[in-house]
Amino acid sequence: MNDGKICVSVCAATADEMISRIKRAEEFADIIELRFDCLEHLQLKNFLGEIKINRFSSKFLITFRPQEFGGRREISLSERRKFWEFISSFANAEYFDIEPDLQKKFAGLRINPRIVSFHNFTGLNNLENIFEELRETNSYIIKIAVQADDIADSIAVWKLLETAKKDDKKLIPIAMGEAGKWTRILGLAHGAPLTYAALDAGDETAPGQISARDLTEVYRVKQLNEQTEIYGIVGSPVAQSLSPFMQNAAFEFHNLDAIYIPLEVKNLDEFIRKFIAFETREVELNFKGFSVTIPHKQAIIKHLDYLDETAREIGAVNTVKIINGKLHGFNTDAHGFIEPLRNSYGDLKNAKAAILGAGGAARACVYALKKAGANVTIFARNIEKAKFSAGEFEVELRELRITNHELRFADFDIVVNATPLGMKGEFQTRTPAAASQIENVKLVYDLVYNPFETEFIKEARTANVPTLGGLSMLVAQGAKQFEIWTQMDAPASEMSAAALKRLK
Ligand code: NAP
Repeated sequence: MNDGKICVSVCAATADEMISRIKRAEEFADIIELRFDCLEHLQLKNFLGEIKINRFSSKFLITFRPQEFGGRREISLSERRKFWEFISSFANAEYFDIEPDLQKKFAGLRINPRIVSFHNFTGLNNLENIFEELRETNSYIIKIAVQADDIADSIAVWKLLETAKKDDKKLIPIAMGEAGKWTRILGLAHGAPLTYAALDAGDETAPGQISARDLTEVYRVKQLNEQTEIYGIVGSPVAQSLSPFMQNAAFEFHNLDAIYIPLEVKNLDEFIRKFIAFETREVELNFKGFSVTIPHKQAIIKHLDYLDETAREIGAVNTVKIINGKLHGFNTDAHGFIEPLRNSYGDLKNAKAAILGAGGAARACVYALKKAGANVTIFARNIEKAKFSAGEFEVELRELRITNHELRFADFDIVVNATPLGMKGEFQTRTPAAASQIENVKLVYDLVYNPFETEFIKEARTANVPTLGGLSMLVAQGAKQFEIWTQMDAPASEMSAAALKRLK
């Protein structure tokens, strides 16, 4: 447990909408930030009237931020002065968030307790100086929010927590954007008095804000402390990953003081140097392990102290466990792929399997199928590129032309899609093969799990072919990761339910 609070930021153009949002925010908020700058000018008075009538039990944080400081509209200096003079007597106000320029200009304003806030949406370096300037305002809390494009950009603002502690000051350090999400999740555990949350996903008032429900139910931010074990998913992009929902459901099931967070990492070398390696790291977050995803599954290998045999043979690592400062690498994709396949299909000895695609996931599939005694053929669009993998695993290689409907898979028992075709986004409406091409196949296995039902799975249904979706592999590889990290049995059905809930 920590002493921090969740502050839900509420922003709407009209008084009615603002009131309805406050009512919804009360479920999770300790404090509700009223973004008065979101209201259209003429709605301000209505809103203040409505707030009196509705008598909320919540405490409020009042913000009236002009556009030049990251607010929603242009507000003149005289309007700002009038607003703050009027609002200072507002009954439910717990805090007033005032920009640094006003702290000086309206030094005589009797508004307490104040938060002085600084926002920079382009990122910058001289944060120590900015902290010094804000400290001079003698505000109760200092809030500094800067944009981070890669995870290392968020270190400077996080390190101010140490400076603030020495000064006996309260600081809210926020790195905005996907790469800064960890500062919003871990801030309270490291002494920040507040963390800001969005009312709902899609309602963010700043980049990278997480919904209040997720901060509470998925990341349990108020229960974390400096000793909490940290795990996460390292990759780019990681925003769509289901792993935080799955792994946190497992940690919660076993009542572990551990949390799994998204880690948007573009530069892997820098991440390892500044966050992980004992001799060089710049932040102390008690990392115990992490998942590795696109594009770092191969690049991570040079940073490892130990490499598990399966990972070595596949040539890719998706799991790192940190033991006494040493990095141990594993691959759970092969296990995650084969376990549900065995459950669905049965004995794989001599089964004929076609793998469509020849990337990282395909390598794990080929490795696992060969180990199980299956006969494997890789179908790749780029034969030259795929020759290396086919040669290494000693399997047949054939050309995959998605537009070639003459290509039939009737000779195969199992057809696996290991391409991104069908995946949410630009590929969603596409399939690697049509129903007519997979007639008489015994099982179609699509590694794509988002959407839950892909075009390929629909084609298989049309052809009356049994199917297996990618979610089963996702859960099985995640369950194995959990077991590697914790040496405990993974609660697979809870993990699956958490992933499915998010997917649907
Ligand atoms: P990857 O390393 O990028 O490999 C993708 C493969 O698909 C490459 O061989 C690529 O060919 C091929 N490909 C891409 N676009 C294609 C197209 N339009 N037509 C034909 N082939 C195409 O990716 P990966 O890590 O192997 O992942 C592949 C898929 O598996 C992804 O959808 C991923 O989400 C899914 N996956 C699921 C799980 C799970 O747990 N369910 C785990 C891992 C991966 P080129 O080499 O010519 O580009």
